[in-house]
Amino acid sequence: MTICSKCYYDNNYPEITFDKNNVCNYCIQIESLANEYGTGREKGIKKFQQIINEIKVNQKNKKYDCVVGVSGGTDSSYMLHLLKEEYKLRVLAVHYDNTWNTEISTRNIYAMINKLNIDLITHVVDNKEADDILKSFFMSGVAEIDGPTDLAVAFVLRTAAKKHGIKYIFEGHSFLEEGITPLTNNYFDGKFIESIHKKFGEMKMQNYPLMTFRKFVTSIIFDRVKLIRPFWYINYQKEMAIEFLSKNYDWKYYDGHHLENRMTAFYHLIYLPKRFNKSLKINTIAAKVRNKAISRKQAEELINKEDKASKDIEVYFKKRLNLSDNEYGYYMGAPLKNWKDFPNDKKKFEIMRPLFFVAQKFNLVPKSFYLKYCFKK
Ligand SMILES: [Zn+2]
Repeated sequence: MTICSKCYYDNNYPEITFDKNNVCNYCIQIESLANEYGTGREKGIKKFQQIINEIKVNQKNKKYDCVVGVSGGTDSSYMLHLLKEEYKLRVLAVHYDNTWNTEISTRNIYAMINKLNIDLITHVVDNKEADDILKSFFMSGVAEIDGPTDLAVAFVLRTAAKKHGIKYIFEGHSFLEEGITPLTNNYFDGKFIESIHKKFGEMKMQNYPLMTFRKFVTSIIFDRVKLIRPFWYINYQKEMAIEFLSKNYDWKYYDGHHLENRMTAFYHLIYLPKRFNKSLKINTIAAKVRNKAISRKQAEELINKEDKASKDIEVYFKKRLNLSDNEYGYYMGAPLKNWKDFPNDKKKFEIMRPLFFVAQKFNLVPKSFYLKYCFKK
């Protein structure tokens, strides 16, 4: 077995290769991104300041400078502080509430916006319909059960930006803290969501903010909203952000990446590990080893640590979606499906690759999206 000499991935990790010094392709990719963006160094900080200056000029005649999607988690909460307090931007916070939030995450959102005096738009879903969509994904056997939420968040942010004449959306992604995930998995689009819901759902899709291919392309061409990731430029360390937020705001840590939402927690802690034998936990743990924040031995312990919230989440999930123990057991053991097994728009993304190539050059779509969606897999 080969283990990367810098991080924690071994040759079982998807799409992994090693160079002659046993450094994996993910570490190499991260290093090259850090060099390109000048992450955490003078080059990156300067570039980010230029972006901020551009935003202030271009949004001068509007009420807001930018949209920030908020979840109550560390990254988005810290971003609110950073953009409002340090860079003096007029921020509009937008929250997509799929009604699976934990109490603590909702409290965190209000703790931040109240103290910072930031306006908040909350898009609350019709919870019966949203649960029907989520349940249909669970029944379908695909891995992407969090896809409907992720795509709706993207659409709701774009919609809010358009409504208020805002040309910039900030995203809290950090490749240094989270790593780069392999491109093979986690595919979803509007048609894919629609087709799974049509096959397994019981209700009609009426209120769910479905971003169809046409709506997505229209938004790229006509709204031209730029996606900015501040943590690709400036120094960001999650542990420090957690400490800072807990000390300076009435904000609480919820113990785990992306676990502020019960649906996401089910996906990370139960569904992916049990159904697909996959853990996303390894990405953040490997990133910590890469950043020399923890040792290999500590990583081992973290990987094997039982998540104590698992049992409660499983009970909540069954109750919420009205699944008996038998039904739940049946679907958890049913044959696995791939996104390719259902109608989707992947071909359209490939055909229109030149458009998306230009779009990613101008930050209108993430580069990772372009690489994943626009090439034949
Ligand atoms: Zn590595």
